[in-house]
Amino acid sequence: MESKQDADLKRIAELREQLHYHNYRYYVLDDPVIEDSEYDQLMQELIRLEAKYPETITPDSPTQRVGHPVAGGFAQVEHRIPLLSLANAFSKEELKDFDERVKRWAGQEVDYVCELKYDGLAVSLTYENGVFVRGATRGDGQIGEDVTQNLRTIRSIPLKLAEPVSLDVRGEVFMPKKAYETLNEERAAKGEPLFANPRNAAAGSLRQLDPKITASRRLDIFVYGIGGVRPDQIPTHLGCLGRLKELGFKVSPHSKHCVSIDEVWEFVETWSEKRESLPFAIDGIVVKVNSLAIQEQLGATAKSPRWAVAYKFPADQAIAQVLDIEVNVGRTGAVTPLAILTPTLIAGSTVSRATLHNEDYVKAKDIRIGDYVVVQKAGDVIPEIVRSLPERRDGDEKEFSMPETCPACSRPLWRAPGEAAVRCVNLDCPAQAYERIIHFASRDAMNIEGLGPAVIKQLIDNNLIDNPADLYELTFDQLINLERFGEKSARNLLDAIAASKSRPLANLIFALGIRHVGSEVARELAAHFDSMEKLREAGPEELMAVGSIGEKIASSIVSYFSRKENVQLIDRLAAVGVNMVERKTAGGQPLANLTFVLTGTLEKFTRQEAEAALRGLGAHVAGSVSRNTDYVVAGEKAGSKLDKARQLGVKILNEQQFIEIIGKHMQDLKQD
Ligand code: NAD
Repeated sequence: MESKQDADLKRIAELREQLHYHNYRYYVLDDPVIEDSEYDQLMQELIRLEAKYPETITPDSPTQRVGHPVAGGFAQVEHRIPLLSLANAFSKEELKDFDERVKRWAGQEVDYVCELKYDGLAVSLTYENGVFVRGATRGDGQIGEDVTQNLRTIRSIPLKLAEPVSLDVRGEVFMPKKAYETLNEERAAKGEPLFANPRNAAAGSLRQLDPKITASRRLDIFVYGIGGVRPDQIPTHLGCLGRLKELGFKVSPHSKHCVSIDEVWEFVETWSEKRESLPFAIDGIVVKVNSLAIQEQLGATAKSPRWAVAYKFPADQAIAQVLDIEVNVGRTGAVTPLAILTPTLIAGSTVSRATLHNEDYVKAKDIRIGDYVVVQKAGDVIPEIVRSLPERRDGDEKEFSMPETCPACSRPLWRAPGEAAVRCVNLDCPAQAYERIIHFASRDAMNIEGLGPAVIKQLIDNNLIDNPADLYELTFDQLINLERFGEKSARNLLDAIAASKSRPLANLIFALGIRHVGSEVARELAAHFDSMEKLREAGPEELMAVGSIGEKIASSIVSYFSRKENVQLIDRLAAVGVNMVERKTAGGQPLANLTFVLTGTLEKFTRQEAEAALRGLGAHVAGSVSRNTDYVVAGEKAGSKLDKARQLGVKILNEQQFIEIIGKHMQDLKQD
């Protein structure tokens, strides 16, 4: 029989393996698969077991490590002074234990500084003679990633200080709640995986190889320490915060000097109530010994300083009742169950629904209609059901099963063998049409500004569209009659729709929403086939000759183009002038990199013909005039676009000059 010790040792090995995996998901991929509270429980269990068998502790145990080694892609930076993690406390008792330990080691009374624990990631910023020269993530505490270029995009990081000093400062980069919500909404609209919490969103944004992406993510920072500062320079932590402020850093206004652990606890209680009102997420309170001399005396373990502790707020959970389980139809026809809950306050906001992913998930968690369930909202994440509470059942609960027909169009649903999702395969299903148009208009697809879910719903409800091609036939008169539309918004929307006609072929291929064809595959297809026409005719073998395309994607593409409705959609898009060819930058594309805007009526061409001719020569045709416009082609009765072109000094062509330009290039092409 297995002895208790054997069982413990086995468990230690198991926990280490699990924690290593979760560290990797969290620190390297920024994509955790368990809640922080679950992670903390595993870690606490390992800490307890290792305390029992200290001889088993190895330097690579997750309890001994600060974070995770850096991932590839960025240069490595060795921190001059290591960036440690913090020991955790989960209750008032644990805070009191910390206080007693500190006082015992210090041999005297101690005062503290309480700070909010921002849910972000630690960075180190190096200044030389007052100039920001380098910034790095914490990494494993010793070695981080050089993310200087990305940090430079954060406006609240001073590039130059008020005085020419050289120092390393530490702070937390975070994503404000608003930015986080918008980012996740955008990702949801694009069908991209959501960030689990603001911390992962901040880390994912800071570790982008393209600083432009980081810049677009609206990150912010609070600076909370100076690396290696000595007590003879500045005697207290409060003094450090004051000094950082003087130098021009963004320092949190919410820190508080506390003379006893009871005062610390008051601060904890105040903020656990008020945290929702903050524009950024916090996951606890950090308590630091104020005196730097005592900090020095206490020192640090390999993982964390002994003079500080992070109190963690409990995960936000509440009990709600499942009133019903509805089903929702997505773009590809996937039908997902959704729990309708008694409206319940969790972490300051009212939750009334939670996604249940698919039928298997509902079965595995044994969630029934009428059940009481534990609902969790960690950070600001979409609420999820942690588990059901079968002990509270009274026998009236109903098991859920997927409906056999689509709730939107009543046609039979279908589950492919081996797939978790059930689908509605009716292409005319109105619920799918809605989702498909949302996808069509989304940023990486046709990028139609101002055409979000609410407007799309309004257009569908008013019978103005039921298919992406209908967008291009919308008229000003139709829009102006709709609620919430004014002259300006109607015009802007029409312009945005018109501008989308000249998106690159890859965007259009992605916009069609062919199953398994994401934006990367779409780009490969566009580059390989050059035109929609050639792609349409490609057989499975030809498709599989393209880079990353395998059997599954190839057969999905072939089946897409074998459907009459899809072919008709593409024909209609082509007829209204949507770009169907890959623009090449060299040879055969003499107008590549030039942007044209057409305005007024041309005598010899319809608008579509003129646009097609320009696109055929590689030009980009835009819907409105900006500084990036190279030429405005002005026909009869040209209006505001012509005025704007004059204002901005953009070159203006009349019809004759336009014909000369395209005529000349057409000739050149023929001779080639
Ligand atoms: P921590 O939560 O234990 O606390 C230390 C960190 O707090 C510091 O490094 C710093 O980044 C931050 N911080 C915020 N405000 C601060 C302030 N005012 N002063 C000083 N530091 C401040 O952080 P950690 O070591 O980065 O990570 C461990 C935690 O991460 C775990 O407790 C767990 O919740 C989470 N985690 C989760 C998973 C998962 O799979 N869900 C995996 C790994 C880690």
